[in-house]
Amino acid sequence: MSGFAPEHDDRQRVRDASDIVAVVGEHLALKPKGREYVGLCPFHDDRNPSMCVIPAKQIFHCFVCGTGGDVFTFIQKYHSMGFRESLEYLAERGNIELTKFNPNGDPNNSGAGVPFEHTGVGKKEIMAANQAGQSFFQTILTHPEHGTLARSIIEKRGISHDMVERFAIGASPDRWDGLLKTAQAKGLNLDALIGAGLIKAKDSGGHYDALRNRLIFPICDQIGRVIAFGGRIMDEDDAPKYLNSPETPVFRKSTTLYGINHAQRAIKKERTAVIVEGYTDVIACHQAGVEHVVGTLGTALTKGHATVLRRLCDTVVLLFDGDEAGIKAADRAIEVLLSETIDIRIASLAGLTDAKDPDELLKRDGGAAIFTQVIAESVDLIKWRFDRLREELKEAGPARITQRIEEELAKLSELGLGELTPVRRSLMIRQVARAAQIEEGVVIAAIRTGRSRQRPSFTHQADIEQVDGEQESYVEHNWSPNARETLLGCLLYDANLWLLMSSDERELTSTTLYGSPLSRIVADALHSSAENGTGTGLHAVLDELAALGDETGKNLVEAEQRATMLRQFVARDSEAIASRVTRVFNECIGAVTMMDARNVMHRDTNGELTDEAAKLKAFIESQRMNRKKFGRSGKNMLSGE
Ligand SMILES: [Zn+2]
Repeated sequence: MSGFAPEHDDRQRVRDASDIVAVVGEHLALKPKGREYVGLCPFHDDRNPSMCVIPAKQIFHCFVCGTGGDVFTFIQKYHSMGFRESLEYLAERGNIELTKFNPNGDPNNSGAGVPFEHTGVGKKEIMAANQAGQSFFQTILTHPEHGTLARSIIEKRGISHDMVERFAIGASPDRWDGLLKTAQAKGLNLDALIGAGLIKAKDSGGHYDALRNRLIFPICDQIGRVIAFGGRIMDEDDAPKYLNSPETPVFRKSTTLYGINHAQRAIKKERTAVIVEGYTDVIACHQAGVEHVVGTLGTALTKGHATVLRRLCDTVVLLFDGDEAGIKAADRAIEVLLSETIDIRIASLAGLTDAKDPDELLKRDGGAAIFTQVIAESVDLIKWRFDRLREELKEAGPARITQRIEEELAKLSELGLGELTPVRRSLMIRQVARAAQIEEGVVIAAIRTGRSRQRPSFTHQADIEQVDGEQESYVEHNWSPNARETLLGCLLYDANLWLLMSSDERELTSTTLYGSPLSRIVADALHSSAENGTGTGLHAVLDELAALGDETGKNLVEAEQRATMLRQFVARDSEAIASRVTRVFNECIGAVTMMDARNVMHRDTNGELTDEAAKLKAFIESQRMNRKKFGRSGKNMLSGE
């Protein structure tokens, strides 16, 4: 694990420059209270200030909803960013130059200033090129001569001046060298413009503009930086109708949603995101005051989109212009539904209006009301599929109906219905049963057959069943720490405790022993952090989680929160008195040892693991001796925090 990687140093430098009280204070009002600060928690519907910021520890914590962590965690949660983005955001805020970022040597992930294959430019240069492109396109739109056609199209389409500004709409001139000439005259970095896909090289030598005579829609990331452009033709004889920037180190189509920077607040508030098809549809919705709307860039909903949206809301409504387009896209959405914890609903304009798209509908009198109704009448994706199936089978006999439903169930199970987490799986099974109007048992049987057909290995099924037994820990509703987790909390509170543990005692915190997956991740990071010498303190473990997230591409913000919460439980229960922490620590070791011994003894009745039981018995005995020797409180044994 990358405990000593250059990124680690970056994290440290950025953290040093990002005082948590200042950073959180830029996002919400904080009031001093003793040695801490309190404010309304932005992560739950808070009435009394329950978020507490602790300057001495540089952490924040909310005891009501459990959200907590360091300054990076706060930025990740608040802006729904990944760790890397939060690092870049805070680096920019603190005016700190980051060292290169290039996990797994993947050129597509190259960071600021790092050369990337073929073009020799990095993210930073491409961002700058996009910025230069945007101001060029905006200048053209206001140009007395070159912007005439674009302005008339915008007026004809009824896009308001406010929306032109908000979405930074621009235009490219009707010539092949508009941007090129400007770039040359201004001495802009041509390689960066090529890297951004705004300028292209001719086979015969020389260069040309990639977007000629088009209305230009800048595509932004969540914090409003231009990462790409979409261009729509102005001359109806041109082709293709829409042209996007190519994928670059800063732009990936499958994770980008048009308008997300303007929509995210409303999406969070509504707990719902509406997805429409085109740029002008998104803009029309925002213009009509319906702001929880984003667009995909000519693709169906992907897992990448769902990951972004899942951090903001629980429900995605896919809005289709007509039924035909819907059927195709809904097919692909099933896979997303079965791989991400987000609900997907389908809405269609057809049936409620003859308008061909939201843009047309919203320009009409009363259009906004119909639009709202269309969204309100959206249908759950699973139900929508079975409704369509039933429609298709209206004239069919019972045998044919049974056969088609079985086929559909087999398909769902192939797409992963059986591999969901237990709670989501049983919800989904209930939903499928209701939609298909069959018994839940039939669905479960279909999943079993589907799965065994797909995976002959028996171990997988065993996994699922074992997970079933642990349902509560997977849901993690009303989670509170058990002794083993409190032991983790003690180690997060005071890294010195780890140094006093024997290897047998350390084994008690082994990652395989937690019912809760989040605690398992925390334990794993804690062990790694201890191994690479940075210790088991909260900040070292948070860094380890961030590094792990970077390496695996997973967002581990939930685990960061769990780690903070475990530490905070210990801090609260001990009132931060060192001897009490030590007592809690010793009690936990005792309790966990007893528990493990009891489990092993229990298994011992089968005539197995006798040696193991004996070993543990001896261990407990040595624990008792230790406690006698050092006393329960462990005073004098340990320094405080
Ligand atoms: Zn809260």
